[in-house]
Amino acid sequence: MATKPVILWFRRDLRLQDNPALNHAAETGRPILPVFILDEGHGRPTGAASRWWLDKSLRALDGALRDRGGHLVFRRGDSLGELQQLIRETGADAVFMNRLFEPDAFDKDADIAHALKADGVDCHGFNGALLCRPGGVLNGAGQPYKVFTPFLKALLAQAEPPGHILGPRRIETPKAASEALDDWGLHPTKPDWSEGFDWSPGEAGALDMLTDFLSKGLKSYAEGRDHPDRPGTSRLSPHLHWGEISPWRAVTQARDAALDGHVPAAEAEKFIAELGWREFSAHLLRHFPYMTERAFRPEYDAMPWRHAPAALEAWKRGRTGYPLVDAGMRQLWTTGWMHNRVRMVVASFLVKHLLIDWREGEAWFWDTLVDADLGNNVQNWQWIAGSGADASPWFRIFNPVAQSQKFDARGGYVRRWVPELARLPDKWLRAPWTAPQDILRDAGVRLGHDYPRPIVDHDEARARALGALKAVSGRG
Ligand code: FAD
Repeated sequence: MATKPVILWFRRDLRLQDNPALNHAAETGRPILPVFILDEGHGRPTGAASRWWLDKSLRALDGALRDRGGHLVFRRGDSLGELQQLIRETGADAVFMNRLFEPDAFDKDADIAHALKADGVDCHGFNGALLCRPGGVLNGAGQPYKVFTPFLKALLAQAEPPGHILGPRRIETPKAASEALDDWGLHPTKPDWSEGFDWSPGEAGALDMLTDFLSKGLKSYAEGRDHPDRPGTSRLSPHLHWGEISPWRAVTQARDAALDGHVPAAEAEKFIAELGWREFSAHLLRHFPYMTERAFRPEYDAMPWRHAPAALEAWKRGRTGYPLVDAGMRQLWTTGWMHNRVRMVVASFLVKHLLIDWREGEAWFWDTLVDADLGNNVQNWQWIAGSGADASPWFRIFNPVAQSQKFDARGGYVRRWVPELARLPDKWLRAPWTAPQDILRDAGVRLGHDYPRPIVDHDEARARALGALKAVSGRG
């Protein structure tokens, strides 16, 4: 080939706008070979819900590339081996990619860049995933922040928004062998449990989601974000995880909405602060890679976790007898997503009421969330379990009944996800075991048949959880 192509290695940056690797590849003026490599022999296996998302997102990306004259090449196997093979097949002499910052992936990228360099191929890495690359936000002593508020302040003071870039209008793709995405089996079959997954993976879906949120949820975000029965949050999390939209796009458009006077500045700031938590999680994981396996605060590894498979199963299936917990777990199973307020309640219930290791919950979320994200998931689970950086203290034990009264005041969320309780009056909806027999009968509820009795008593569980803390404080 007269002009050697460059490889654009897509990973979790499945977009054409605001994509630094793509922009730099395009600036070479050379043909671009976009490739996605399914590398299953390395790191944590992708969860089932994430595989569902990936399947659709790759189809969307391929479609968007075809609209610009190119297409996506699909390969499966060891990333380095596949890149080397593609280089041999096409004569490419440079690879452009957006970096992944999870510890394993980060180290592997460095090995790949090193090996390609030895083959005479330049590897160019960029940050398309985060507002600021990990290591870029350090305190005065040059150390990573362990407390969120000063981290956020420093992040926002120093991170510079890149300009918005639409990406090249034409992308000519040289010939290269490609597998068929259909052969990868990313979409579930036998059974196909994804019927309730009401999402539009891909860049266009992500941008629509942002536009919709900016015009509706953002103006009352600070209050609305806590109510699972309302569409008060952006639902951008899976799109952000797969890099279908740049986090800067979300930040700058929220800021613009405030500058235009469409929304109060405080609402935009609160939304940006939540994106800051995403950033904080990624930075913490990069600096403290052991967090995926062990407590960030080591004394918490002494917590006397229970082996309680039946209780764990009841939690996973949404059959704990606590309606808000069960509603959340069923929303997760049905849609691949759960509202943040309810994530906090169900996670607290698992680790404190049931005294089951946070790693069990983290693993279940990893498999069932469409937004499963190593940094966010681990950081949030440890936040709930009291063992994380800047975590909620262990003694703060959510009462699922009180949480339901406060945040699902009309019961719409519970009634939607636990329909067998739908006819119970509000007064009994959160704690059906307290309802008189005639109320239960009129609502068509037979406790222990249609809906379980509580698998633990709140007061006893609370006392047990507080007692368990002694094992930790003894070591602290
Ligand atoms: P919005 O309220 O619209 O927030 C905008 C964005 O900010 C989100 O898309 C997300 O990227 C980020 N964000 C918001 N809250 C948090 C937070 N607490 N921590 C980190 N980033 C945040 N989020 C994930 O993306 N992946 C996970 O695997 C994940 N696991 C979690 C596990 C537990 C136990 C808990 C309590 C929370 C978890 N979260 C996780 C954080 C949070 O629940 C989701 O990011 C949020 O519910 C996504 O909905 P949204 O996009 O509508 O959020």
